[in-house]
Amino acid sequence: MSQQYYDIVVVGCGMAGLTAGLRAAELGQSVAVLEKSPKAERGGQTGYSESFRVPSADTDLTEFGYEFAVPDYTADQFYDDIMARTDGQADPDIARTLVDNAGRTIEWLTEHGVEWDMEPLAVGYTVGRTWFDNDQLVAHLIHEIQDHGGDVYYETSARRLLQDDAFRVVGLEAASGDECVRFDCGAVVLACGGYESSPEKRARYYGAGFDDMKVRGSGYNTGEAIEMALAAGANATGQWSGAHMALIDANSPDVGGGANRVDGYQYGVILNVDGERFLDEGEDARAHTYAKFGREIFKQPEHLGFIVLDSKTHGLVRATGPSEPAVADSLEDLFAQLALDASVAQSTIETFNAACAPDEFDPHVLDGNATEGDLRPRKSNWALPIDDPPYYAYKVTGGITFSFGGVETSSNAEVLDDRRRVIPGFYAAGNATGKLFYNNYPGGTGLTNAAVYGKIAAEQADTYLDQRTGSN
Ligand SMILES: Cc1cc2nc3c(=O)[nH]c(=O)nc-3n(C[C@H](O)[C@H](O)[C@H](O)COP(=O)(O)OP(=O)(O)OC[C@H]3O[C@@H](n4cnc5c(N)ncnc54)[C@H](O)[C@@H]3O)c2cc1C
Repeated sequence: MSQQYYDIVVVGCGMAGLTAGLRAAELGQSVAVLEKSPKAERGGQTGYSESFRVPSADTDLTEFGYEFAVPDYTADQFYDDIMARTDGQADPDIARTLVDNAGRTIEWLTEHGVEWDMEPLAVGYTVGRTWFDNDQLVAHLIHEIQDHGGDVYYETSARRLLQDDAFRVVGLEAASGDECVRFDCGAVVLACGGYESSPEKRARYYGAGFDDMKVRGSGYNTGEAIEMALAAGANATGQWSGAHMALIDANSPDVGGGANRVDGYQYGVILNVDGERFLDEGEDARAHTYAKFGREIFKQPEHLGFIVLDSKTHGLVRATGPSEPAVADSLEDLFAQLALDASVAQSTIETFNAACAPDEFDPHVLDGNATEGDLRPRKSNWALPIDDPPYYAYKVTGGITFSFGGVETSSNAEVLDDRRRVIPGFYAAGNATGKLFYNNYPGGTGLTNAAVYGKIAAEQADTYLDQRTGSN
């Protein structure tokens, strides 16, 4: 077995691992970042992501020439959005630390050359978002880590943590290429993402049939490194049965399709193969429903749904393929092209149309145009009759984005054991951790969470190592 020594070993090179690795190297620690995938597939789910949620009111990027299109979104509003989307179940300390550090973390990334392309979020609530080409973001931050003296090991999978007799984490063993490599170190940062890409764990945590669900992003987040942490005494926490499951094109590849979302469903209706509606398409803004509707669609017969719209709203759809929608001048002809019960579908649309009595339609806010009477399920906003040809239908399914359970951490990113004591020398960040997301998800929070806690993990590990050196 070959051996290496580093001050800090980071497991995973998604956003959490990248910020942990960069911050640790910047603070003068020797750093190894271990990445299970080959170089060409590095970056985990981060490599598929677009946007960070930013508390624009508490973030100053003017010296870099950026102005937020929505400048008044505060950390407190960000906190409230997390609590509202998670039904109040997010850990208050974890959420508070996240929103309070988000602005400074975005500024720090910008100081490290990350470039942004800002747009306001179009629908329903006020948030400043920043955009960056995802592949470039991963490549840029790896370059920064290496520029600061850090090493990156690809095709290297962390398998077993090494602890001394005070349970301090003092290294790990990894499968690297063809051999087992022992990385001795002062601290480990777990940044391995979640378990969403493992069919076995999807069946275990989400139920029968979920092993067939499409994985939107990387196939490498299979959760073994989380199990490695649990085997070392880390406490399992958060919503293990929960996940971000988005509504995606039904013809997306099984793994790695990327965005593949069909946005704009909130302006139409969604039918299952029996021709029936099964959810409130206009319950909330798209950014507040897309992460949970995927699961509802997957639970329908054949895991399928059909978004039906007419010419009034079709222009609002943002679909990135791979499929083209079915198009027809009559609903009858439209349904004849789809594998659903056409006569029930026809009557579902007629009943829905009869329940619509819209005032002025506004796609950019929750416009209050709800269905009337006892239509079940009701549609709470944007309820316009589907009666203006041509008609369009998109075939969709649910795809998993990332899992919600993970190891328990303090708001200092320290890993806690099953007695809620800190495991010395062990830190975790991003989707390897639990306690933040439950039931649903406020769009753009995954990257910000990973970036904030990756940076905190590195800073805490740096302090820990300095204290250990001082006490020697
Ligand atoms: C299609 C898609 C779009 C998304 N869009 C957005 C968005 O716009 N905004 C947003 O905020 N979030 C978005 N997300 C979610 C976001 O990607 C995640 O929340 C975030 O990237 C999590 O970062 P992470 O570092 O925790 O994990 P990841 O980025 O998944 O990185 C984990 C890394 O660990 C590696 N790894 C796993 N096991 C091991 C092991 N044993 N040893 C070594 N390495 C290992 C993996 O290969 C991977 O590289 C999106 C996700 C997907 C799939």
